[in-house]
Amino acid sequence: MVEHVVIIGSGPAGWAAAIYAARASLNPLVFEGAITEENRMRGTLPLGQLALTTEVENYPGFPAGNMEGYLEDSIDSERMMMMPPHMKEGVSGPELMELMRQQAVNFGTRVKTDDIVSVDFNARPMTVTSLGGETIETHAVIVATGASANYLGMESEERFKNNGVSACAVCDGALPRFREQPCIVIGGGDSAVEEADYLSKFSSRVFIVHRRDELRASKIMAQRAIANEKIELVWNHVCQEVLGNDEDGVTGVLLASTVDDSTRELEASGFFLAIGHTPNTGFLDGALAVNDKGYVEWPVPHRTNTSAEGVFSAGDVSDDNYRQAITAAASGCMAALDVERYLAAKGL
Ligand code: NAP
Repeated sequence: MVEHVVIIGSGPAGWAAAIYAARASLNPLVFEGAITEENRMRGTLPLGQLALTTEVENYPGFPAGNMEGYLEDSIDSERMMMMPPHMKEGVSGPELMELMRQQAVNFGTRVKTDDIVSVDFNARPMTVTSLGGETIETHAVIVATGASANYLGMESEERFKNNGVSACAVCDGALPRFREQPCIVIGGGDSAVEEADYLSKFSSRVFIVHRRDELRASKIMAQRAIANEKIELVWNHVCQEVLGNDEDGVTGVLLASTVDDSTRELEASGFFLAIGHTPNTGFLDGALAVNDKGYVEWPVPHRTNTSAEGVFSAGDVSDDNYRQAITAAASGCMAALDVERYLAAKGL
């Protein structure tokens, strides 16, 4: 059987594409990603980056209100049991993603909990092959694999991953090892502020270490960091080494000034990266054109076509600018509509 469309990825872009494709009777097949230790470490488990966040206050349609009953009504009970308990009045990232997944499934989307590890976009029909060894033939593909957090690439950072080094404060910040301990966040963007703000709920003190003397973060977010008494900004410094030992994990960092030759040590039990993201395109192995930052290119403005005929992309894998859940979902919808028109034009 040749699929009409295979959707790779399970963030807002993937599920929005699936909802539209399913409702257009394209019977979409979604590869939502595999549940592996490697994906956990890289932040590429099913349901994408939103599943690694807490409250989502800017996704239209979810004002604060009692979500509990709605969640119980909407989401499959088996999956509901695996979800973290509902904590706040509004919707959380994991809840929003489960709702999107459920909506796609309700309209007939088929889901495989597996990664796509290689593709052949030259063949007709095209093929995609999964980690589990399955090869699927398809007339169209939507790539919606998102992006993952960057690390600095230091040996000491690698050594303490899972032992004090993390690229997701929201996932790891509440762990006992960070409670009432000082923590460090590297970066100066909205993510750095958001992570520091979150950590300040548990840690004794949070240092945001930034390589310049001005935050890149939006004014409202920067103000949040400045107003938070537990957050201290360390300007004009970069991390030279993560300090620690095998027993305790991270114990501090060695910082180097970016304006003179000085260095200083900071004590901390947590080292959190918030220095941007890299699109998840490795599995494409060059099959699609990418821009200078490595994001899958849309050659035609306001269209989700890629450089390969029949292949469309949506969400953060193609967006190095907006990177919002709502923009990802919107482009997922666009990709599904583009697929529908492409298949109709080809008589497929
Ligand atoms: P970002 O805006 O690209 O910021 C990355 C930060 O990391 C920058 O301050 C950058 O420094 C620093 N950096 C990059 N490489 C570094 C390195 N090797 N060493 C030291 N520092 C390094 O990324 P982001 O904060 O993840 O935000 C991405 C997008 O998501 C933005 O559009 C943001 O507005 C959005 N976002 C929004 C919210 C929200 O509204 N709640 C929350 C999170 C993210 P320079 O400033 O010197 O370049």
